[in-house]
Amino acid sequence: MAKGKITFDYEKCKGCLLCVGYCPTKILALDKTHINEKGYNVIMVTDPEKCIGCAFCAIMCPDSVITVEKLKG
Ligand code: SF4
Ligand code: SF4
Repeated sequence: MAKGKITFDYEKCKGCLLCVGYCPTKILALDKTHINEKGYNVIMVTDPEKCIGCAFCAIMCPDSVITVEKLKG
């Protein structure tokens, strides 16, 4: 069961991959099929069920792309 729900503000993402290295469950990756209006490939969650809601990704992103909602239960 996912313990966190991630949403992205895709237009702010630069595809820098900084967040990827801080995710303890390794579920963040570059989405090679999605390019934003600035021309960057953006970030995606590969396995949403594995998110533990730690918010490390959101804290580390320099562009405030990621929002993490803690899920109960
Ligand atoms: S979400 Fe933030 S840290 Fe992650 S790739 Fe996009 S800009 Fe970089
Ligand atoms: S909240 Fe934690 S587990 Fe979920 S994607 Fe971000 S860093 Fe990974």
